[in-house]
Amino acid sequence: MARAKASKSGGAGRAAVIFPAPGHDHARCSTDAMAVAEASCVERGQRLTPMRREVLGALLASHQPLGAYDIIERLAPSGPRPAPITIYRALEFLCENGFVHRIESRNAFVACVRKHPAGDMVAFLICDRCGAVGEASSPEFALTIKSAARAAGFTPKSPVIEISGICTHCGKT
Ligand SMILES: [Zn+2]
Ligand SMILES: [Zn+2]
Ligand SMILES: [Zn+2]
Repeated sequence: MARAKASKSGGAGRAAVIFPAPGHDHARCSTDAMAVAEASCVERGQRLTPMRREVLGALLASHQPLGAYDIIERLAPSGPRPAPITIYRALEFLCENGFVHRIESRNAFVACVRKHPAGDMVAFLICDRCGAVGEASSPEFALTIKSAARAAGFTPKSPVIEISGICTHCGKT
């Protein structure tokens, strides 16, 4: 009895975390994610250079994905206009380390605020109304996808799953 109750409330809690409410404390989301990035760079002996930090900061401004040129526009007012190659290099570093994800279908990038290991299989849930991107993942889901791929004699390397729809907050209005 107790177990069924616990899993029910756990499910509701997860839905709230995947799509933070419109009025949530986003300053905290973004400070936390930056702190996680800083700590893991120190741990791995990597450098979060000023450019990498600025690009991550621009993406952390919201839960919406941004294209490389949108990032340039955001950074331009605070200093010299960065060259696209500089932005792409910073994005490559941030993606490789799991701080940022590439959303293939939008040709855009979104900051990861879920603190999961880089390379974890996640499904990106993209809201058609507000543009927010949520990350859903579960070990069962990863196993199912991997075993389906292996059954086809296929070795899965970088699975990208993107699902468009309406997020929990937009669905209510
Ligand atoms: Zn937030
Ligand atoms: Zn993520
Ligand atoms: Zn939405």
